[in-house]
Amino acid sequence: MSTANTGFAYRNKTLHAEGVALSRLAETYGTPCYVYSKAALTAAFQGFDAAFASHAHLVCYAVKANPNLAILNLFARLGSGFDIVSGGELARVIAAGGDARKIVFSGVGKTSHEIRDALNAGILCFNVESPSELDRIDRIAGEMGRVAPVSLRVNPDVDAKTHPYIATGLKENKFGVAHTDALALYRRARGMKHLKIEGIDCHIGSQLTETKPFTAAVERVISLVEQLNADGIELTHIDLGGGLGIQYQAEAYSCSVEDYAAAILKGIAGRSEKLLFEPGRFLTGNAGVLLTRVEYLKRNDERNFAVVDAAMNDLMRPALYDAWHDIVPVNNADASNDTLETWEIVGPVCESGDFLGRSRKLALKEGDLLAIRSAGAYGMSMSSNYNTRPRAAEIMADGADAQVIRQRESIAELYANEKLLK
Ligand SMILES: *Cc1c(COP(=O)(O)O)cnc(C)c1O
Repeated sequence: MSTANTGFAYRNKTLHAEGVALSRLAETYGTPCYVYSKAALTAAFQGFDAAFASHAHLVCYAVKANPNLAILNLFARLGSGFDIVSGGELARVIAAGGDARKIVFSGVGKTSHEIRDALNAGILCFNVESPSELDRIDRIAGEMGRVAPVSLRVNPDVDAKTHPYIATGLKENKFGVAHTDALALYRRARGMKHLKIEGIDCHIGSQLTETKPFTAAVERVISLVEQLNADGIELTHIDLGGGLGIQYQAEAYSCSVEDYAAAILKGIAGRSEKLLFEPGRFLTGNAGVLLTRVEYLKRNDERNFAVVDAAMNDLMRPALYDAWHDIVPVNNADASNDTLETWEIVGPVCESGDFLGRSRKLALKEGDLLAIRSAGAYGMSMSSNYNTRPRAAEIMADGADAQVIRQRESIAELYANEKLLK
């Protein structure tokens, strides 16, 4: 199953989110705005969940991919758990109606305060990333008269073959504990009074488009689990993290959720531990677009520039990772080949890195609407107010209806917490 085109399609030459014309949303709510499809989010979750139907499992949506309350609430209703990386994300999940008992807490820098909040909420598991963190959680749990459920995040030292900024499973990365140190650390954890060993965890990177690195990671993790078992340490679950990639460009995609599941299920055949997964991008990425309007067309000797009203502060991935997002016209009535030209799609921010797409063949005029596709993950969640730009509105399409799920920020809100000098 490819979820690439679920939720968004042309009708009468106008791109729609489910039954709603994006042109109508732009008129009603203004641009730039993020538009999501509830059906696409649902299909992605159910597709992932169904792929693992043959083995006991829990999908823990990685909140950082897109933390909007409406999206968390939708996944919670579908039965999802959550992978959080901060106390802020914990609060969001609770506010959205998520079940604390289905939360795993990842991240290398959990503060004492965050650990206390998570213990109070009664989360499923801490994914512990260092010996010092293990000590800290044991001490805090003891102070609170609690027992903290823990997994160790092991670093399987496999190359995820993805962008270096989103590869996390190599020795040189800051994440997890070295495979070779894991057994000793588990033994130490076993002796700690206020910890209960629940599982093992790994997460090797993001936007992986082949099964090989996953297969390699599973093998490494299972060999550790066997060593632990031989040592008398039994685990309740094995958490294989997230990382399954999505289709950003039709021709550059090779790993379906079925392929991914088949590779993993083969690797864990015969084992009875529950499997946990932490998909982020896969669940939301293709379910959203960033809708933007062309402000100016500008040409020089070298290039054609289309200056749009969205920018790197709204969608950082192109500037940060040189990432590709398909950019398509909302109205494709006049997209005959002879009117196509090559455009640099750029925002108004004062940085040459502020581009959303390079060398795109489009037929453009000022005032046109464009949809930047596959923007549902790490789009809004990485947005900022750089250049004092209010963050975009977010809208959820659901059949013939659409609902604002986050108001556009006002300019006054941006400096409401600032003070003039006395
Ligand atoms: C970011 C992250 C994820 C989600 O990664 P995706 O590539 O979006 O699936 C899962 N687990 C951890 C620990 C992460 O940091």
